[in-house]
Amino acid sequence: MIQKIKKALENVFIDNKNIIQSGMVKNIDLLEDEIIIHISLSNPTMHAKKKLERDISKIIIEQNVNKKIRIKTTLDTLVGKSKKEEIRNIIAVASGKGGVGKSTISTNISVSLVNMGYRVGLFDADIYGPSIPLMFNIIEDKVQSSIIHHKNGTYVMKPITSYGVKILSIGFFSKSGQAIAWRGPMATKALRQLINETDWGILDFLIIDLPPGTGDIHLSILQEFSLKGIVLVSTPQKISLSDVHRSVGMLRLKSVLVPILGIIENMSFFVKKKEKFYLFGKDGVKKFSKRMNIDFLGEIPLIQEIRESSDLGIPIVLKNRTIRKIFVKITNNIMNNL
Ligand code: ADP
Repeated sequence: MIQKIKKALENVFIDNKNIIQSGMVKNIDLLEDEIIIHISLSNPTMHAKKKLERDISKIIIEQNVNKKIRIKTTLDTLVGKSKKEEIRNIIAVASGKGGVGKSTISTNISVSLVNMGYRVGLFDADIYGPSIPLMFNIIEDKVQSSIIHHKNGTYVMKPITSYGVKILSIGFFSKSGQAIAWRGPMATKALRQLINETDWGILDFLIIDLPPGTGDIHLSILQEFSLKGIVLVSTPQKISLSDVHRSVGMLRLKSVLVPILGIIENMSFFVKKKEKFYLFGKDGVKKFSKRMNIDFLGEIPLIQEIRESSDLGIPIVLKNRTIRKIFVKITNNIMNNL
């Protein structure tokens, strides 16, 4: 009977490996009227656990086993330690609308994490406007020569390191000024390949800069990769919030259920002669976060230097102490919510 269950569990996959092969199944207890399966998980999130439980139950029921199935999970942070390549925390950054500062924030959170001593990767999945290469001052020539490496007879992608962050962008694969004509399933497939076939090495954090909105691409990234959670970005104005509301709806779908680590308000106010001007409305995101029961991670003012610094390809946290402090606080808030 145990062999039969083990055989069935070989059909449950996490990160492309079946759970028997990856050693996640620690024990199987056969009781009189139930089967207890002990699993050690490296991803503590509720959605990962629920998905695994669903997959296991389904596969065992298909074997015509008519005992009750109980799955006991323990958190084992050592699971991945033996692996050479390991990504410990995948966090996505999302917004409802484009242009609200999602990429600026992904950039500066990544660099803040590097400054704190973490190993960080940043995957720019924004197929509509991949701006990470510009923000990190990565020039095309450099990309062409160093992106693809030969490894054990197969090709793997090698990220490009800038300001200590290992970067892979969908923009590396299109010339400047060229539209990326990938849509729907094709884009999803390409993104999946890029994430999986990149030699990231060991990372404490992989930040994914998602495209704005709520499409197929979001659903498949969210469902497929074991995300620790998602960070939302919005400006305080109604139009931006109404779109982010849709994103929250998607994240709370039963089939997705990715933890929302919190929301960041960008372009909160503009300061002139010590007076604050609320160009996009006051406390819009703060109020929204209360209403939606989402943690408020912090606010970033509208500052010309942020825009200038993005255009120059220098992350603002490396230039401006006040803004660095804001990002350190936001980054710590995110980590506290993991
Ligand atoms: P998204 O990724 O949401 O499309 P970006 O991060 O590309 O948005 O930001 C859009 C533009 O706004 C960029 O030119 C960026 O430099 C600028 N920007 C973002 N946040 C701020 C801010 N707080 N103050 C000034 N400019 C900002």
